[in-house]
Amino acid sequence: MHPENPSPTSSPQEALRAFREFARTTLLGHDAEFDSGAEPPLELYRPLHEMGLLNWWLPKEYGGAGFGLADSVDIVSELAYADAGSAFTLLISILSSSMVSLYGSPELKKEFLTAMARDGGYSAALGSEREAGSELINLTTTLTKRGDQVVLNGEKMFSTNSGFADYLIVFARSTGEREKAASYHAVLVPRDTPGTRVVKRWDMIGLRSAGTYQVSFTDCAVHSGNVLDGPGLKVIEVGLNSSRILIGAIALGVARRIRDMCLDYAIRKPLGGHTLIENAVFAGKLGQMEMQIDVMRNQCLAAAREYDGIMALDDAPAVLLQRGALRSALTAKMFCGQTGFQIATVGSEMFGGLGYTTDMPISKYLRDIRAVTIVEAGDDVLRELVFRRFVLPPDRRI
Ligand SMILES: Cc1cc2nc3c(=O)[nH]c(=O)nc-3n(C[C@H](O)[C@H](O)[C@H](O)COP(=O)(O)OP(=O)(O)OC[C@H]3O[C@@H](n4cnc5c(N)ncnc54)[C@H](O)[C@@H]3O)c2cc1C
Repeated sequence: MHPENPSPTSSPQEALRAFREFARTTLLGHDAEFDSGAEPPLELYRPLHEMGLLNWWLPKEYGGAGFGLADSVDIVSELAYADAGSAFTLLISILSSSMVSLYGSPELKKEFLTAMARDGGYSAALGSEREAGSELINLTTTLTKRGDQVVLNGEKMFSTNSGFADYLIVFARSTGEREKAASYHAVLVPRDTPGTRVVKRWDMIGLRSAGTYQVSFTDCAVHSGNVLDGPGLKVIEVGLNSSRILIGAIALGVARRIRDMCLDYAIRKPLGGHTLIENAVFAGKLGQMEMQIDVMRNQCLAAAREYDGIMALDDAPAVLLQRGALRSALTAKMFCGQTGFQIATVGSEMFGGLGYTTDMPISKYLRDIRAVTIVEAGDDVLRELVFRRFVLPPDRRI
């Protein structure tokens, strides 16, 4: 551990307890504030850094707590139970930092991951453009080699955390490469590099305590050592494995919150001389929800364990590049997004007319959970990817 780092909470169980305590005491019960669209409340997350738990996945050799993805599923679920936007802000740096961890040079890793663990910073990934979101093959941001530097030009449509992140992982394309795959690159850009400009923060309909930004790059030059090692489109596929699983876990946390709210309401709601909780139709709905929640959690955990298993290999970066998107990670995000939205719909009906008012936070949960099937590629695109990679006979797979 870095000598100046806060002491990390030692075991995964202890860390989960700390996150649950943090989520229940600091985040829970502030739905209206989180839903107001105010700036991301980063100061609120500072205690996590003081406990050594901000960016809890950062490797121990750089001063992080070094927790695995399977440990992270319940952590994100606890955070999202209290506020999905906060969970999104806190987990999304895993996408960019794990790409650095796997494919950055030793110098890059030492500089940026150590600073992140020591100072409690954030990072962001910038892939999506106006015509390239789910399908990054269409991206138009250019990378030009100039001496020992690379120069970026282009505009990125959506990028979470980039308004305050310390470094950005930007995806760009060069010309003149023989092989198309070799023309896509992932480049680490320190946030204060000249030519980097936040164009605006989007006013999203959900996850409103998070910040997602449009960012432009004009003659933005960084050292060529900042280019990550590996074909850019594969590097992001690998990075997306961890964040997709944890975005699935956001749906899990929100679904658990909806279940508990429904239960609280049913205890109090009078119905024909009884209360709603005594009603068989209500019991059936909550039984169904519990089954869905259980399978969501199990799928996230199965995917996370598969990822952790690969990460434990000596040649994990190469194995991951070869495998790219893991089926379990794709299906975890898709299943959790679709099932979570069903739970939110049933939940909103449960409160009758009240469920359609802003008096009840259910509208926030519906809007928050909607994002899961959209971010990091929409379901239409992921369905096709699963078909092409895992359903077609092996000799026809792309
Ligand atoms: C809250 C939020 C945070 C985000 N954060 C980030 C971030 O940090 N970094 C980042 O890079 N991006 C980020 N994004 C962008 C996000 O990843 C993209 O919006 C998402 O991948 C969808 O891409 P798109 O917007 O280009 O839409 P498209 O994928 O173009 O979808 C538009 C429509 O076209 C359809 N479509 C597209 N391709 C196909 C196909 N092959 N077959 C059939 N139908 C198709 C879709 O189903 C959809 O109906 C964020 C977005 C949101 C909403």
